[in-house]
Amino acid sequence: MIRTFQFGDLKITGITEFFGPTHDPTVLYPKYDPAVVEKEKSWLVPDHYHPDLKRLYIAINIWVVQTHDRIIIIDTGVGNRKKRVGIDRMDQLNTLFLTWLAAAGVQRDKVTDVINTHLHLDHVGWNTMLVDGKWVPTFPNARYYIPEREYNHFVGSRKNGVDLDGGSLEDSVFPVEAAGQLQLLTDEKHLFDLFEIVQAPGHTPGMINLWFKSGGRQGVFCADIFHHPLQIVRPDWNTLYCMLPEDALKTRADFLKKAEETKAVFFPCHFVLPHAGTIKHNGNSYEYVPLTTTQL
Ligand SMILES: [Zn+2]
Repeated sequence: MIRTFQFGDLKITGITEFFGPTHDPTVLYPKYDPAVVEKEKSWLVPDHYHPDLKRLYIAINIWVVQTHDRIIIIDTGVGNRKKRVGIDRMDQLNTLFLTWLAAAGVQRDKVTDVINTHLHLDHVGWNTMLVDGKWVPTFPNARYYIPEREYNHFVGSRKNGVDLDGGSLEDSVFPVEAAGQLQLLTDEKHLFDLFEIVQAPGHTPGMINLWFKSGGRQGVFCADIFHHPLQIVRPDWNTLYCMLPEDALKTRADFLKKAEETKAVFFPCHFVLPHAGTIKHNGNSYEYVPLTTTQL
């Protein structure tokens, strides 16, 4: 799936690496209540929930932002041929992502910047590709940006014998560092005169959101604040992957308030088509308003 949005001066393309009815909500959300899906099923079925399988549809989206002088990739999915033992849907994946990227008008040697919002293995995969048995940066002329807090947490955990990344540091992060292309984001508040970097701790300790304005409109790449639109209706539901649960709840609540107030178009990593949307108040909670490419 490839969807391009013209957003002010920016051309924003979402490329779906894969999607499917992959997640059992009773596992993904420890606080899951099937009555919520029953109540919301008029909009959840058939796009976001498969009622026979009782599975949530989840996508892996890679975002590409083209400005007048930059090509920026935000999060890089699972990647091809990465050994992901125990995760069948990701293990040794083989998609046509680079062909799809070219179809969006982007050759990999023209990419200027890659940002990993956090270091989970489904956000760093296409940082590298396998060439002659070695992992090399997929984007040879790009700088790669990773939040320093995130890097220190994941690398530090590894040094303490805890593997938080499923092997992705070795095949997707360290080769970029070895090539001299890695830049850690420390206290920067802005990037490229385009993005405001906002700390979004909870899902992981160092995750960031990227807020931006173009053509008078507010947008935000919100990483894994949500995995599924259900969490807009029930922002009190963390996933089992949220490493700092209390922080994740506060970050999600703050995000929803700001996104609703600013009428921001948000671009999440794991929603199925049309991938992007806005937030509307609904009683004591919120509602997801998906956008088509022509509604921007
Ligand atoms: Zn993710």
